[in-house]
Amino acid sequence: VKASKSLSFSLQAKMSRPVQARRLQGIDKNIWVEFVKLAATYSKVNLGQGFPDFPAPDFLTEAFMRALGGGNHMLHQYTRAFGHPPLVKVLAQFFEKLLGRDLDPMTNVLVTVGAYQALFCCFQALVDEGDEVIIIEPFFDCYEPMVKMAGGTPVFVPLRPNPPEDGRLMSSADWQLDPAELASKFSERTKAIVLNSPNNPLGKVFSRGELGLIAELCVKHDVLCISDEVYEWLVYDGKQHIRIASLQGMWDRTVIIGSAGKTFSATGWKVGWVVGPNRLLQHLRTVHQNSVYHCATIAQEAVAQGFQRELRLYGKPESYFVQLPKELQQKRDWLVQSLDGVGMKPIIPEGTFFLVADISQFKSDVPDVPNSDEPYDYRFVKWMVKNKGLAAIPLSAFYSEAHKNNYTSFIRFCFAKEEATLKAANDILQKWKQEKTSS
Ligand code: PMP
Repeated sequence: VKASKSLSFSLQAKMSRPVQARRLQGIDKNIWVEFVKLAATYSKVNLGQGFPDFPAPDFLTEAFMRALGGGNHMLHQYTRAFGHPPLVKVLAQFFEKLLGRDLDPMTNVLVTVGAYQALFCCFQALVDEGDEVIIIEPFFDCYEPMVKMAGGTPVFVPLRPNPPEDGRLMSSADWQLDPAELASKFSERTKAIVLNSPNNPLGKVFSRGELGLIAELCVKHDVLCISDEVYEWLVYDGKQHIRIASLQGMWDRTVIIGSAGKTFSATGWKVGWVVGPNRLLQHLRTVHQNSVYHCATIAQEAVAQGFQRELRLYGKPESYFVQLPKELQQKRDWLVQSLDGVGMKPIIPEGTFFLVADISQFKSDVPDVPNSDEPYDYRFVKWMVKNKGLAAIPLSAFYSEAHKNNYTSFIRFCFAKEEATLKAANDILQKWKQEKTSS
């Protein structure tokens, strides 16, 4: 009788204590969860989330197939925690070339579950309660919650648009930091700055002058630089991607983050990496070994083979890192033409596979709701995907809460898409424009 009494008690008892850890407060919303679902439900043409709809290169998928069934059954087992040896070796060789310095594959490279986990390791390993982290707006949205989860305080500094006076289309290069404003954000509480060049969502490729300014401030205030370079190969019009770690005084205080997802058009593989000095990476390894421990061996093996190929073909026309940006530049130009043709003014990106466009001329189609909690560009994108079947991402998703409402006239498109997808997007925009002019 006693036993059954206590059993019925335990079945009825509801938990009343709060279950959510304090560090999760205020970071439960996620733009991707919401807009990916919306696109899956309503869109006919999805230029929203950043992923290619064309296949990854044959040499990469063939390497994966070989790793899967090629006779080395040990590739189905655990590998080294901090990176599969062939992958860290070739990454070290590759980055030695790019940075012009010797690298130790075992201590200067860490393989992570995509660039996402690389970022998570950085913030957890390097940011303490009370530390400030400078984030340049607009920014890849996860930086803010990740800083907060580590107990840090994000401090935002905007790229300010300077519209050209000669009537030409705006470029991502027209969005610039105000040097005095940037300098004013550094203090003795600043632990790190997050740099993302080429930048998602604008496609801005920071110039040597801009990077020099950031580097100078980092050295002056003894601040770390978390340099998210996942779009390092996607730069256009002969522009050059400059690695801030190669500037004076920066190697020792910089972690470089990369992603095979973007590099080899295989976002689903979730293979990323960090390259940097051991004095920083040793702490990232502590986070890594106490969280995911290591990433899928077969994917790492295939990415290693992809990099070995690229090392052999470095700078040659057959290199994927030469071919991919060429193809993407053409796709960028198609989308620029489509958008410009209908009056959804594009900001021409210097890099990445994203493009931001001004929706001002289309606002009359989508009524605003005064005093709504939702920024106007969110409403616009939701309306567009439901009524026109075209998915994009609102630009204000890449701004902090305090600054969102200053940037509600823009939306972001991804142009890493098949020609047919971009044509279908063009058809939707053309039809929309015709309906507007005839009504
Ligand atoms: N950083 C930036 C700037 C990104 O755009 C992305 C992906 N959209 C990531 C990091 C995450 O990359 P991964 O898919 O390799 O985790």
